[in-house]
Amino acid sequence: MKKFTKSFTQQESIPEAGINSAIEVMRSGRLHRYNTLPDEKSETDLLELEFAEYMGVPFALACSSGGYALHIAMRAAGVEAGDKVLCNAFTLAPVPGAIHNSGAIPVLVDVADDYCIDLDDLEAKAASSGARYFMLSHMRGHLADMDRIMAICDKYSLFLIEDCAHTMGASWNGVKSGTFGDIACFSTQTYKHINSGEGGFLTTRHPEIMARAIMHSGSYMLFERHFAAPPKEVFDEIRYHTPNYSGRMDNLRAAILRPQLADLDRQCQRWNARYRILEQVFNQCEGIHIPPRPEAEQFVASSIQFSLPGFSTEQILRVVAQCNERGVVLKWFGAAEPQDYTSRYDSWRYIEEMPQLPKTEQVLSTLVDMRIPLTFSEDDCQLIGEVISEVVATVATDKD
Ligand SMILES: *Cc1c(COP(=O)(O)O)cnc(C)c1O
Repeated sequence: MKKFTKSFTQQESIPEAGINSAIEVMRSGRLHRYNTLPDEKSETDLLELEFAEYMGVPFALACSSGGYALHIAMRAAGVEAGDKVLCNAFTLAPVPGAIHNSGAIPVLVDVADDYCIDLDDLEAKAASSGARYFMLSHMRGHLADMDRIMAICDKYSLFLIEDCAHTMGASWNGVKSGTFGDIACFSTQTYKHINSGEGGFLTTRHPEIMARAIMHSGSYMLFERHFAAPPKEVFDEIRYHTPNYSGRMDNLRAAILRPQLADLDRQCQRWNARYRILEQVFNQCEGIHIPPRPEAEQFVASSIQFSLPGFSTEQILRVVAQCNERGVVLKWFGAAEPQDYTSRYDSWRYIEEMPQLPKTEQVLSTLVDMRIPLTFSEDDCQLIGEVISEVVATVATDKD
């Protein structure tokens, strides 16, 4: 019986260049982003400049986590207590959590069969809810039809915040994910596309929004020490009106991120090579369905999702358990009990007026997820694909 033995939570080590510059930061003792010599740019300053350049946007702010970036994005956008914010029902807990943190109310939108946000439901809820904000999670790296998303945002004057936790490095029709919306947020938490343990970015083209985000992030009156930032006049009034929600990035984390950012596009290709192998094996297995990915979508597959149509809850649980026995760790997004990093929308019980979303429940009931750490080789992915296919075939025919 085929078995897999590597860890699904083991990421690659930090590049030597990052380790060396982290050691230099520690030797200098200047870990705080504003603790610089005269005319020196800190590692955090440099990282922001490099990230802005990578994204092709004028402004970038590094901060303490992706969830934190989402929170101050909403504050900087002017979200107030009681405002409604459209968001995916199929996403991870930091998304509704960030909305709640700003006092706003999530309006959950269905997931479609392709694992993207359901655009018909989005349009219906944009029309009926009166929400003026939309936090779009490119969940598990699946980019919805961005042309239609933008048309809906235009039609209903929605302020769009993109949650790019799983799409750093991805594009739609050659346009980078994170440059469609008014604000984009990214995570550099260990399981995302670049790894600093914890961390995140906020990017935008709007000078006033970036000024507010910088103030929120805990800049004190040191905002002039930001370089991927608007000129100081923009802060003239904003600095008096914007509370400090302290959530800066430090130079140590920035130091280990910079070489990873420089290498990101190559890493994305490595993820996708692994994805294509798994996809090919799965496509040969009758019980497994993978929605085809649109040509316009240049995705980054740091994880893979597939469905087991027609499988009962009991069969799904058996697939997960049997794969686990053979060293392959799968997550089921349909479980009623929140577990590990997955939680179904109805487990976020702090949301008042929880909607019923039968379509979402139906899609999630057979949706399985697997991480693809880059510590797995292409041969590993072939083996993993075969293990999963064997288990699915067995459970499909097993009538007990
Ligand atoms: C990880 C993640 C976030 C938030 O990132 P943190 O850095 O962990 O706060 C937001 N959205 C999604 C979909 C994520 O997976």
